[in-house]
Amino acid sequence: MDKVLSLNIRLVNKLLKDNALTSTHLTSKCLERINNTKKYNAFITVTSDLAKKHADESTERYKENKSLSEIDGITIAIKDNFCTEAIRTSCASKMLEKFIPTYNATIYERLKNAGAVLVGKTNLDQFAMGSGTVDSIYGPTKNIWGDEKDCYITGGSSGGSAIAVATGSCFAGIGSDTGGSTRNPASYCGLVGLKPTYGLVSRLGLIPLVNSMDVPGILTRNVDDCVSILNEVAGHDPKDSTSLRNPYKKIRLPPGDKMTIKNLKIGIPREYHCEGLSDEVLETWNEIACCLENAGAIIKDVSLPNTEYSIVCYSILNQCEVASNMARYDGVEFGFRADENTSTEKLYAKTRSLGFNEVVRNRILTGNYFLLTRNYEKYFNQALKVRRLISEDFDHVWESVQILLTPTTLSTAPKYNDFIGKTNRDQCAVQDYCTQPANMAGIPAVSIPIKLSKNNLPISLQLMGRNLSEPMLLAVAKFIEHIVQFSHNTKYIKI
Ligand code: GLN
Repeated sequence: MDKVLSLNIRLVNKLLKDNALTSTHLTSKCLERINNTKKYNAFITVTSDLAKKHADESTERYKENKSLSEIDGITIAIKDNFCTEAIRTSCASKMLEKFIPTYNATIYERLKNAGAVLVGKTNLDQFAMGSGTVDSIYGPTKNIWGDEKDCYITGGSSGGSAIAVATGSCFAGIGSDTGGSTRNPASYCGLVGLKPTYGLVSRLGLIPLVNSMDVPGILTRNVDDCVSILNEVAGHDPKDSTSLRNPYKKIRLPPGDKMTIKNLKIGIPREYHCEGLSDEVLETWNEIACCLENAGAIIKDVSLPNTEYSIVCYSILNQCEVASNMARYDGVEFGFRADENTSTEKLYAKTRSLGFNEVVRNRILTGNYFLLTRNYEKYFNQALKVRRLISEDFDHVWESVQILLTPTTLSTAPKYNDFIGKTNRDQCAVQDYCTQPANMAGIPAVSIPIKLSKNNLPISLQLMGRNLSEPMLLAVAKFIEHIVQFSHNTKYIKI
């Protein structure tokens, strides 16, 4: 692989500015890389022509010394559940297989306006429901890591964006994160995965799964790249009513070796020592806690007592919002329409049974059940109350610590055959255990790769902080990155 594809964004930007590299060349290298790594199935649509056009425009800007930002000419990939004008946005589903949006999601609009070059739209679990990137009408995305090639899942649902970045096909991938969909694949694919504070990055144009929890996420090979992207996409969007109004201050992190975490209070939540936590992940968690303590941090044992109710509560709220969000796909207004004209009811039924997979259909059915007048109080309202308790657990914990350190996932990436043997419900219970509480509370969280397991799969840890603590969270992530030197110690993207 071309070395330039493994550099960080700031260095590439410097080369572009010095005219030692052009965006046209960089983009052609990325497109070549996409072509050579097709077997991992990261992309649903490769936007070669558009990418070349945008790259040429960027090249011209650099020539005239008029570059737009640090990410001008930098290649990116976007999960196929973000609307992109005139580019198919399928949600990996039959329902939206032919859907061509007429507008751009704000996140893409901002990246484009900053000069970034979109190389393609990436694979996911249908409508972002899942944790494996295995439930796509385009087939599963495959992990690049592991002793036995091609047999481990990438995690999900943003596995396509993760593998696009991990293979060096682009510098940043945009994912979405409702219960862990950015952090989970980041953890399994050896990447940095940021779930920003709810409302910090606009949701406009992100096809909704659970409106009250969805956030766009960022996948990169290192913390600095994540910051470069976040700085361009964060900030108020008047077109998203849940977007935060606080003006966004750009984050600037010092070099890793100039950082200190002296007296930083780090909490280790007891409840994350849960059933199913693998020995290797536990060991890694302890090791890093020790390293941070040796570097001057104060490590405290803390409790988030309602964690055990989180998955069931999430699952109810998720299904209720899914039932409501999916109601728009009826074969009349959006997307796929079945060939059925005997009655409107039959048209709806056939459209939805052919247009959605089993996971989506199950969630619609259970969600509607929870929302029945006779069940509403017992399930939906009750789950909202539990969600409040989970959120309050975090508020209490911030009284004694500034940041939490936990695993991102309980184990390394499962094998495809083991994973698909389980139901979607079981998978969520195992896969989202550590990631999903942050979505319930709206707080920011980041997954950082630490090292490889015995069978060469990435092991990652997660940091969580209070709302809008991204500057501190990413600074500590960078500190850890500097200690562990993951990309230096591994055969990173040398596939
Ligand atoms: N695995 C969870 C689900 O299926 C989370 C998905 C996500 O974050 N998009 O709902």
